[in-house]
Amino acid sequence: MPNTTTRLRSVDSYRATVSALVGDLPIEHLPVPDCLGLVLAEDVTAPIALPPFDNSAMDGYAVRSVDVVGASEENPVKLPVPEDIPAGRTDVVPLLPGTAHRIMTGAPLPPGADSIVQVELTDSGVEQVRVFAAVPIGTHLRRTGEDVREGATVLTAGTVLGPPQLGFLAALGIPRLPVRRRPRVLILSTGTELVEPGKPLAHGQIYESNSVHIAAAVQEIGGVAHVLRSVPDDTDALYETLEPHLKEHDLLITTGGVSAGAYEVVKDALTGEGVEFVRVAVQPGGPQGFGTYRGLPVLTLPGNPVSAALSFELFVRPALLAALGNPQIDRRRQRATASSSMKSPAGRRQYRRGYYDAGTVQAVPVGGPGSHLLAAFAQSNCLIEIPEDVTEVPEGGEVDLVMLIP
Ligand code: AMP
Ligand code: MG
Repeated sequence: MPNTTTRLRSVDSYRATVSALVGDLPIEHLPVPDCLGLVLAEDVTAPIALPPFDNSAMDGYAVRSVDVVGASEENPVKLPVPEDIPAGRTDVVPLLPGTAHRIMTGAPLPPGADSIVQVELTDSGVEQVRVFAAVPIGTHLRRTGEDVREGATVLTAGTVLGPPQLGFLAALGIPRLPVRRRPRVLILSTGTELVEPGKPLAHGQIYESNSVHIAAAVQEIGGVAHVLRSVPDDTDALYETLEPHLKEHDLLITTGGVSAGAYEVVKDALTGEGVEFVRVAVQPGGPQGFGTYRGLPVLTLPGNPVSAALSFELFVRPALLAALGNPQIDRRRQRATASSSMKSPAGRRQYRRGYYDAGTVQAVPVGGPGSHLLAAFAQSNCLIEIPEDVTEVPEGGEVDLVMLIP
């Protein structure tokens, strides 16, 4: 029989154990479009100013403000138009006094001009233009460096890269960014009873779902999931399935086969192979294992689908976010009142699936504490956290929620 450490670990100490196991991911330079959801590993300074040159904010005419003083509908000012400056024109065409260049939005301001008359305030003339209004100096100009000065620190290490950040860095002409590499997570479910969705079920079999949940959760935080689906409860099958994949990954996550019964394939296969099996003071998700199997960090999660999901949520998700350099590793929390009473075992931190109603600030337990209740989990938007020293939450009692939605 494999040895099991029976001492209960606290949730917080096991979180620290898992974080230390996962560690920091190495920094690499990725193309900007591939960095969505990743975290800047170094500060970024602007290689150019934005805008890079003075340019027009409108389609219209580049003029000297003094040349259109007094212009009105009744007394338009007539100016010859020697040049047309579309966006992208790169030669320099100075503006002589008493003339106007036709100019488009984003085109460079010609030297000598100090204002733009928008096309709506003119007769749109091509050879000659009639201007119907005076414009103060600086009208409809975008000045060099108005958005960003060259050399300024524009984003700092730890910034999470969303669409606005990526678009901005592309506008600065930056092709690649220093980020921590996406964690490459190998996922293996275990259980002779498991069948891949799409295939027929015999009596006694169930569809394999943990690998789908875990892979999605890995991808959601920016990781790359490599799913090996499932192996039967046979240690040789487990060794053989893992063998070709031990090198290319940062973490192995297994589910199932770590409890106290017989046929505990993960425990049987990995005990004495660098993996320690422990019990954590949490419900669900008590039986856990961690270690390094032939050089690959491994976390063995329990098999019950809600237990596996919660184990990922509580231990793996924060560790992977920290490994990516994300400063925000915890979910948003919320106080609420319980819509009904709940019991919880002494000495365990219990997480119940719940629905938080922002209108009434109530938390409604969804389903019971059973760790096979998948529909209830899928209908929840939060976890109701019941501390170790609380055995009963009364109806209307205050509870802390871990929000599963932004
Ligand atoms: P185990 O931890 O292997 O004893 O599994 C506990 C319970 O979770 C059993 O009812 C299993 O059938 C179920 N289970 C284990 N792994 C999976 C999986 N990958 N997908 C769905 N259910 C699973
Ligand atoms: Mg099993």
